Amino acid sequence: MTLPYRPELAGEKPYGAPQLDVPVLLNVNENPYSPPEQVVAQIAADVAAAARNLNRYPDRDFLALRADLATFLARESGVTVTPDQMWAANGSNEVMLHLLQAFGGPGRTALSFAPTYSMYPEYARDTHTRWLAGRRAEDFTVDAAAAVAFIAEVQPSVILLASPNNPTGTALPLATIRAICDAAADVRVPDAPADADGKPAGAVVVVDEAYAEFRRAGTPSALTLLGDYPHLAVSRTMSKAFAAAGLRLGYLAASTDLVDALRVVRLPYHLSAVAQATARAALAHTDAMLAQVNTLRAERDSLVSWLRKQTGPDGGRLRVADTDANFALFGTFPDRHAVWQGLLDRGVLIREVGPDGWLRVSVGTPQETDRFKTSLTDVIKELT
Ligand SMILES: *Cc1c(COP(=O)(O)O)cnc(C)c1O
Repeated sequence: MTLPYRPELAGEKPYGAPQLDVPVLLNVNENPYSPPEQVVAQIAADVAAAARNLNRYPDRDFLALRADLATFLARESGVTVTPDQMWAANGSNEVMLHLLQAFGGPGRTALSFAPTYSMYPEYARDTHTRWLAGRRAEDFTVDAAAAVAFIAEVQPSVILLASPNNPTGTALPLATIRAICDAAADVRVPDAPADADGKPAGAVVVVDEAYAEFRRAGTPSALTLLGDYPHLAVSRTMSKAFAAAGLRLGYLAASTDLVDALRVVRLPYHLSAVAQATARAALAHTDAMLAQVNTLRAERDSLVSWLRKQTGPDGGRLRVADTDANFALFGTFPDRHAVWQGLLDRGVLIREVGPDGWLRVSVGTPQETDRFKTSLTDVIKELT
């Protein structure tokens, strides 16, 4: 049978981090700790209440949830935004798809700086948007001057910046984000009209802060720039630090004009009553849900120092990218697949991702991290 696939989908594979049944899962940057029992009980009660109204469509504009998310951001980052500056969807993946649906499209370009999140080119493909990636430096930072020149050359309508970046863990300094936002404001998107004063529409800048809660002391959030840049959207998620990957709830903060554009492209009632109730119950227990984040940050820092002291199969010290996230990118291995497989054989699943020779491991519980360390030591010995 032949199906009429869009030509650009020919040979494409679905997103595929392996989901394997092994004892130690350190492959998709989840919080290894389950939600605490008192939050589980609250969720169960609130979902039961929502179930009594399941014959009705949910609140399409979910303003109560947006208010809760704004309250959380104010606490987390000290930045005040109004509920109508918030947006949410089924994971920040859907939030970013909404951004591309609203601001990408045929004849337009989205860009980022690689290595970065593997889903970005897929949002572009799925919205018929051209995709281009500039390169990050050898240490995975973004050179601001080179980024500005690239933006001026390409004239994109959407710029995606992950900070902390996945899979490298690299956070961008605010000065770099500012330089990119300034360059974005000067972009002339080919089919977007200028305003009455002749000012071009400019490009939308998306800072994907999926891992922001894990950032090291002194690393600021791009939320602090929202007041200066109406084209800036800062995306967050409840999937990582917030210990709710199974919920599928991502969100962003931006200007109300930008949020209003996303309301146009979303599907009607895209956030179910059950998801809204669950997210609100979890947000009512922010401290409990985020209780392990400081532990995980400390574990991350000690895992990085441990890795930096290890000798690889080729006799050199392992390298580890500086990380503000709950994972570390380490290497380099002449045969990274053999290392990944050796760990899997010992019950430890990590991710084979990033530039050649590198591997990514998520921060788990102390027991999980111990098992990872012992297994890695074994595997390196075996391969040396
Ligand atoms: C995990 C991750 C997300 C979160 O995706 P959700 O759809 O919210 O689960 C977003 N961006 C990056 C870079 C990620 O690594």
